[in-house]
Amino acid sequence: MIGIVGAGLSGLLLGYRLQQAGKAFKILEARNRIGGRIHTLIADETPLEMGATWFAPKHEFLWRLLKELGLAPYQQRMQNTFLYQQKLHAAVQKVALPSQEPSYRVAGGTSQIIQALAKSINTADILLEQAVNTIEIAEHEMKVATDKEEFEFEKLVWAAPPKLFAEQILITPDLSQDLREVMQQTHTWMEDSIKLAVTYQTPFWQEKGLPTTLFSNGGPIIEFYDHSDRDNAHFALCGFMHPQFNHTNAATRKEAVIQQLQEVFGEEGVRFTGYHETVWQQEDFTGNKKPIGLVPHQNNGHPIYQEPVIEKLYFANTETSPHYGGYMEGAVYVAEYLADILKN
Ligand SMILES: Cc1cc2nc3c(=O)[nH]c(=O)nc-3n(C[C@H](O)[C@H](O)[C@H](O)COP(=O)(O)OP(=O)(O)OC[C@H]3O[C@@H](n4cnc5c(N)ncnc54)[C@H](O)[C@@H]3O)c2cc1C
Repeated sequence: MIGIVGAGLSGLLLGYRLQQAGKAFKILEARNRIGGRIHTLIADETPLEMGATWFAPKHEFLWRLLKELGLAPYQQRMQNTFLYQQKLHAAVQKVALPSQEPSYRVAGGTSQIIQALAKSINTADILLEQAVNTIEIAEHEMKVATDKEEFEFEKLVWAAPPKLFAEQILITPDLSQDLREVMQQTHTWMEDSIKLAVTYQTPFWQEKGLPTTLFSNGGPIIEFYDHSDRDNAHFALCGFMHPQFNHTNAATRKEAVIQQLQEVFGEEGVRFTGYHETVWQQEDFTGNKKPIGLVPHQNNGHPIYQEPVIEKLYFANTETSPHYGGYMEGAVYVAEYLADILKN
């Protein structure tokens, strides 16, 4: 039996491949939901991406997986002009953008990938609210403990950010100092980001012929995109807030967002039907409440992760991927790679 820690894209895809190969496994997931950093919230009938959103045809492993799962990519609405605020409360300018490679979203939401994978896995093989805290490497097996239960596996795959392992897992015998240092200094992509989505009854920005994208140096919203669904039948704007708002409370953030929406879009901007945010730094099984100054993608795909760390213990999440580490593409790549090894 193979143990997989984490039911994000990497862990679920690995489980899906092992199931296809007839190999026994269990996935232990700390949260009460699957998907990890993929989290589509359906509000006002609109899929709102509070986590991963965009990809491109160059993300070939992901693109192939979508095809296999029968999921349809559609192009993000973008124009060659965007709205720009140079600093806090600055007047909005319209700025031309050099033509760019289009990016794509999954129709119905990125969580469709997660649901399609999970649907093919026996429900008894995905255990929720099982936060692994202790691993013991015994002679013939890996003993794994959560707050609730103990498990024994022949092999174990850590399919969660390496930094979380370094911070939260008690392992005996301990890992080498070299590995520990790399893990502590492996950036978990987007762990500091604040995702914001607001829904509207009508797409006033489309009706007024406004650019659908906003960039602002001052914030609180620093990037905002048209987030209406594929059929343009339900309407939303979605993007990122400045990470400095990690240090403010929800009410202060919302007040600042409303002020900015008023400045940028006028009255229509503040007549939203729903307001949703996810502060990833506050998510226990992703974020780091005490940032330690890593740069994005630092040590992603480090060579130390490419071999079994110790015989029977493997690392396989997007941050360990040598190909597009940090992205969904990286998660798919590592899962496919490791599935080929573990299937045999
Ligand atoms: C706001 C945001 C925006 C993003 N935008 C994009 C984008 O546009 N395009 C893109 O390609 N990528 C994007 N990403 C990155 C993308 O989400 C990740 O690459 C991908 O989802 C990683 O999957 P994973 O399975 O490797 O890791 P994760 O999704 O982090 O999954 C790890 C899982 O392990 C679980 N876990 C952690 N600790 C334990 C424990 N002790 N015991 C048991 N379970 C545990 C977690 O709960 C989680 O479910 C974004 C991420 C965020 C947060």
